[in-house]
Amino acid sequence: MQANHTPDLSAFDGIDLSEAETRQVVIIGTGPAGYTAALYAARANLEPLVYKGPEPGGQLITTTDVENFPGYPEGILGPEMMQHFEEQADRFGADIRYGTITHVDFSQRPFRLLVDEETPVLAHTVIIATGASAKYLGLKNEKRLLGHGVSACATCDGAFFRGVEVAIVGGGDTAMEEALFLTRFATKVHVIHRRDALRASKIMQERAFDHEKIEFHWNTVVTDVLGEDEVEGLRLKNRETGKERTLPVGGFFVAIGHKPNTDIFKGWLDMDEQGYLLTEPDSTYTNVAGVFASGDAQDHVYRQAVTAAGTGCMAAIDAERWLAEHGDIDAVRTETEYHVAPAIDSTEG
Ligand code: NAP
Repeated sequence: MQANHTPDLSAFDGIDLSEAETRQVVIIGTGPAGYTAALYAARANLEPLVYKGPEPGGQLITTTDVENFPGYPEGILGPEMMQHFEEQADRFGADIRYGTITHVDFSQRPFRLLVDEETPVLAHTVIIATGASAKYLGLKNEKRLLGHGVSACATCDGAFFRGVEVAIVGGGDTAMEEALFLTRFATKVHVIHRRDALRASKIMQERAFDHEKIEFHWNTVVTDVLGEDEVEGLRLKNRETGKERTLPVGGFFVAIGHKPNTDIFKGWLDMDEQGYLLTEPDSTYTNVAGVFASGDAQDHVYRQAVTAAGTGCMAAIDAERWLAEHGDIDAVRTETEYHVAPAIDSTEG
């Protein structure tokens, strides 16, 4: 999807920019990508300003043990690991603040950003690390038991379900891939799908159909997640017959897709149909010179903490080199007046 329509800039009407801070790098988001970008940018003396956003720490905050991030041979709790990420970036001078960037204006430089609808900040470069959010069914007990048997990431949590019977909802490639992954640990994997045909690619379907541990429940929806302190079962409803029943399982995986948190960039940045930001190959460059995208906001393939951290590092290096190439960094630092900013040349970069 090309960013070919002019976004609504009315949020900036009446905003006084004369007192606005101007920073060389503003980083939006504090998952593994944002904090890694902050660490690298801070160590490059770029004094990055980092906004935590509505879900500080990102998706790992809702995970319990993380066993697949290199460097933690015993594993680590997701929230604790994100605390480490923050402390490491903070140690090198990243300016980490609570607040959500709610509006952006990438039409001229420095770029204009609005924090929590009202506070303006000017940025010579912007690193986007807003991540993606797993979609959930929206059931009350699904939310209550998140991290206690409910998970949206089989790759992260599957190994905790060794010897247990589990269920997964969804009919796409992710659901099939995760169902197959779960067969390594679980005694049985129930796939619950709302229709009678899968959306997943044929090859993934065949693999799942062929697996003796996987059982499909067609035309079926999950109406409730059962259990006091951890998942003990699901309440299911057949959409054709209306018949309800209970399926006893010890784990419930939700694989109905992710939504990248990129709505505020619509109209400015090129994105695919699902909203994932498009970057130039082997880089974090977006279609706007000086704006870089990292982490799950631009990655719908790998979506791992370690790959997000990797692209966060890339974005900081790209931003540093871009600043160095587009003027003396110290000169950029002292340039504070918004109205003298050069107009954007979108072919630059
Ligand atoms: P997806 O293709 O959008 O599939 C989502 C699935 O969840 C669909 O089957 C959908 O049902 C179901 N669903 C959505 N909302 C639901 C709800 N409220 N209640 C019940 N079911 C619901 O998402 P994805 O599987 O995450 O894949 C995303 C993209 O990544 C796709 O392009 C996929 O091909 C790609 N991918 C590729 C691979 C691979 O090649 N190895 C692996 C993973 C993902 P309906 O079918 O009825 O709409």
